[in-house]
Amino acid sequence: MSEHNFSIEFFPPKTAEGAEKLRVTRVKLAELHPKYFSVTFGAGGTTQQGTLDTVIDIRKEGYAAAPHLSCVGGTRDSIRDILKQYQANDIHRLVALRGDLPSGYGAAGEFRYANELVEFIRAETGDWFHIEVAAYPEMHPQARSPQDDLQSFVRKMNAGANAAITQYFYNADAYFQFVELAQKAGVTAPIVAGIMPITNSSQLMRFSEMCGAEIPRWVRLKLASFGDDTASIKAFGLDVVTHLCERLLAGGAPGLHFYSLNQAAATTAIWQRLV
Ligand code: FAD
Repeated sequence: MSEHNFSIEFFPPKTAEGAEKLRVTRVKLAELHPKYFSVTFGAGGTTQQGTLDTVIDIRKEGYAAAPHLSCVGGTRDSIRDILKQYQANDIHRLVALRGDLPSGYGAAGEFRYANELVEFIRAETGDWFHIEVAAYPEMHPQARSPQDDLQSFVRKMNAGANAAITQYFYNADAYFQFVELAQKAGVTAPIVAGIMPITNSSQLMRFSEMCGAEIPRWVRLKLASFGDDTASIKAFGLDVVTHLCERLLAGGAPGLHFYSLNQAAATTAIWQRLV
């Protein structure tokens, strides 16, 4: 698997205890030798210091770190300051996003879409950062149409992104078709598949509702049939997601990006089945 681009995502912990737990998780996940660990970033300011603190911890431990950076609600000055902090801390990767403002948050800021952020990062910092952007094989929930969303994706890549990571999905065909259409539209950069392990069905339904990821009917029915039997949910989830990863890699996916939710067990179990 070492030829593949394999990465793992965390969210910034809110407490010192959470930070300590994440350190333990990281030690376990580092044994899988991912290319980098990424750390999400809350639009509107909620977790932004946490993102910086977590990536600094990751760098100190000797691993590559990719902070996410969302531009909605930000200004050119505020984004410039963040970029400078990352450069000062020897961070060379970024996942660049528009983000979603928390409800009730007022100003949208100076950037409307992620392509504007990518352009700004390139204009300010040249080639310092390896930039990843988001892709949506099942369409971003706010897009007017799949065609429109694909055009927005291509615009974002052409603005200077090096690679993309997809929203998670459970329909491999949606990914393959998206990649094919993106390539026909001139995208040559890798489009890494985002993978959400299945360990908790109510949480999965809630996330999927928000981000527009479809849970196939048969998967939903099976998960519902297990009720509170978490062992069965995890065993079934492991089978489904491992099979998805196998199909993706066999079909040419350049890599996998695991949404770990700060847990080591599910990502490790899938990974061990793949190697
Ligand atoms: P964009 O690429 O700007 O697209 C947003 C919408 O606008 C789409 O519907 C697109 O079709 C449309 N659009 C884009 N450009 C144009 C244009 N020029 N004209 C008209 N329409 C346009 N969110 C966070 O807050 N923090 C995170 O750390 C985070 N990490 C993520 C990591 C990954 C890998 C993924 C897939 C998502 C992540 N998100 C995160 C969620 C993301 O911020 C949301 O999905 C957000 O709604 C869109 O961000 P984007 O960068 O894809 O936006």
